[in-house]
Amino acid sequence: MRFKNNKFLLFGALLSLALLLLFFTTPFLQKPISEEHKSVFILVLDGVGASYLENLSEHQIMIDGVFLRKARLKSMERFYSKSAVLEQPFTKTTAAHSLYYIAGNCGRRWDSIKECVDDFGIASVCDFYRSKGYLCIMVSEAGDFKEARNEFDVVLYDNDLFDFRVQLNSSSEEAKEVARFLREQAKNAANYKLQERDVDFFVLYSAFIIDTDYKLIKFLQGRFPEKKFFLFSNAKGTDRCAHLLSALEYINCIEGLDSYLKPLVENLADSNVLFFITADHGMAFDCLQCNGHHASKPYSETVFAKQIPFIFVSDENVFLIDGTAYDLMPSVFELSGFNSACGEMKYCEGNSLVMR
Ligand SMILES: [Zn+2]
Repeated sequence: MRFKNNKFLLFGALLSLALLLLFFTTPFLQKPISEEHKSVFILVLDGVGASYLENLSEHQIMIDGVFLRKARLKSMERFYSKSAVLEQPFTKTTAAHSLYYIAGNCGRRWDSIKECVDDFGIASVCDFYRSKGYLCIMVSEAGDFKEARNEFDVVLYDNDLFDFRVQLNSSSEEAKEVARFLREQAKNAANYKLQERDVDFFVLYSAFIIDTDYKLIKFLQGRFPEKKFFLFSNAKGTDRCAHLLSALEYINCIEGLDSYLKPLVENLADSNVLFFITADHGMAFDCLQCNGHHASKPYSETVFAKQIPFIFVSDENVFLIDGTAYDLMPSVFELSGFNSACGEMKYCEGNSLVMR
């Protein structure tokens, strides 16, 4: 009897120890990576350097002996703590740098990006997502090129400022309907066009793209709720603002986008569509009233031109750590439920920055 009691005691103690261990270690165990496939929306705010966003990056920007006021994107700020700053080593405009994501990372041969996109097999991000049944859509202002447009099922692009065209590359019913929708939307572009090329002009240039993304996603959610999509979008106004106006106006230009981004944030933060905001490069200025640059030395060497935001607009309990632009697509792939996508792609290096 005594022996039996001891056995019970020992068993009880071991059980308690096991339960205690489980209790204390559970929060540190990684959640299994979701296999659920989700739609993806990547919005590139052209030329918006991470350094210029208040509360995102630590860098102070001193120009003409004063600290430059940074831009506040209030609708976005609650996501900054889980977002990352990426180093973009390629800040040149060669072959539409806005779209390097489309080719994975082209084996880091940025100057050959056109050949990479055009390559056979699963060479582009669209090749990959389409092989999984996704619809691939581009809504872009500049930053695109023929080889990249050909990768998508349907494309809205501008031939020149506010001269929008639709290109349909697929015979699927979904793609045809999206093309019809985008053609109608393109007719609205004229309503966004102002006369004078000031800050408001460039804010509205980007706002047209952001509004179109919002309406398109609503359309897709209503019309094809089961169809997954990969939407890539480039809003060019901020880059133009920096190149043609000044550092001070560039900040106003970025802030001007806040009210247009807000409906997208409200619709997508708690949805099945993964929403990422990034940029193709940042910007550097010699003086407060000077034009901005990013492609040539010495500007291309600065953190202001190289650091880009990678904001995950999501209420999910997911964090991104800082990395390089090469890590962007591996992170997006993982979050959209394709953990081993890079292994299937021809050009995809880098590591996922996702922490759960
Ligand atoms: Zn750019």
